[in-house]
Amino acid sequence: MKKDYYDVLGVSRNASSEEIKKAYRKLAIKYHPDKNLDNKKKAEEKFKEAAEAYEVLSNSEKRQRYDKFGHSGVKGNGSESGMNMEDIFTNFGDIFADAFGEGFSSFGFGRSNRRNKTIKGSDLRIRVKLSLEEIASGIEKKVKVKRQKIAKGIKFKNCSSCNGTGQTVRITNTILGKMQTTSQCYVCSGTGKNVENIPYGANKYGLIKEEEMVNIKIPAGLTEGIQLKVSEKGNEAPFGGIPGDLIVLIEEIPHPQLKREGNNLHYDLYISFPDAILGASKEVPTVNGKARIKIDPGTQSGKTLRLKNKGLPNLEGYGHGSLLIHVNVWTPRKVNDEQKKFFEKMRKNENFLPHPDNSEKSFFDRVREMFS
Ligand SMILES: [Zn+2]
Repeated sequence: MKKDYYDVLGVSRNASSEEIKKAYRKLAIKYHPDKNLDNKKKAEEKFKEAAEAYEVLSNSEKRQRYDKFGHSGVKGNGSESGMNMEDIFTNFGDIFADAFGEGFSSFGFGRSNRRNKTIKGSDLRIRVKLSLEEIASGIEKKVKVKRQKIAKGIKFKNCSSCNGTGQTVRITNTILGKMQTTSQCYVCSGTGKNVENIPYGANKYGLIKEEEMVNIKIPAGLTEGIQLKVSEKGNEAPFGGIPGDLIVLIEEIPHPQLKREGNNLHYDLYISFPDAILGASKEVPTVNGKARIKIDPGTQSGKTLRLKNKGLPNLEGYGHGSLLIHVNVWTPRKVNDEQKKFFEKMRKNENFLPHPDNSEKSFFDRVREMFS
């Protein structure tokens, strides 16, 4: 039978969260393995038991479920996942910090296998503007980036303040006896190293800003706002840590003639009245050169022609969108007397009278078709 969490912490069922915290802190200190060296195993058990109870009762939602359904109400919710000691310190470390001042971590528990903090360099962000043509084909761009890099000829030495451990250990006298607290060394920021000879222009970590050409592979089919990550091309980290990343924000330069809509492109083509009547061959711009299209005799204004696969490539690498050409018949704004006479004559001509049949699609039909 599992012990009741309230019994574990020795508090009443209507204890306040402050009381619960206090009770847990007391138990955690009492059963801390470093303080119970003669009976470490038993202490660790008690320590974990208290942490589990605290994990549930300190969370109002979990506590409510526990009150209603008992242990089965909080099963599989992390409470019974068997937290190890490091987890407990990670999750509830602030409690100990409250008790013993800032920087208190784990009484040295697990210190033997704790490595010096590896510092990661910070990320850099740049914007890259792409034309539709570049988006269509994908491109490799060389971009000048100002990165923090480890200065040349630099030498490291172990931090003398912490003897290269990255941590300073402090012994404090408390009512419970001597307590050992560990905190990150402020001289070396926990890295355990210092720079021996800081070159001119470099910061205290020996980092210096340098311009570098970075090659960015830009795949085809990107859209505005997408971010690419170039691994480890951000700022370098002190003491040979992992460099940060270069984050590339993609911006799209609007095309003067083509409008983008997802992977499809739209183009407004204006043809003359005679071309609409007699038919014509017309050149239209695409993202990779020009294309020629045929205008049939008797083409209506508003007709949409679709050039398959002349749109933009799909980012996932299969297929292309279409280039949709919207035909507009240009009506002359001015005509001379001779033309006026001609069209006066044509006004009554049967051929010039509109008689749309079923093959003529309405504007709404065309829009529906375009988006289907
Ligand atoms: Zn140090």
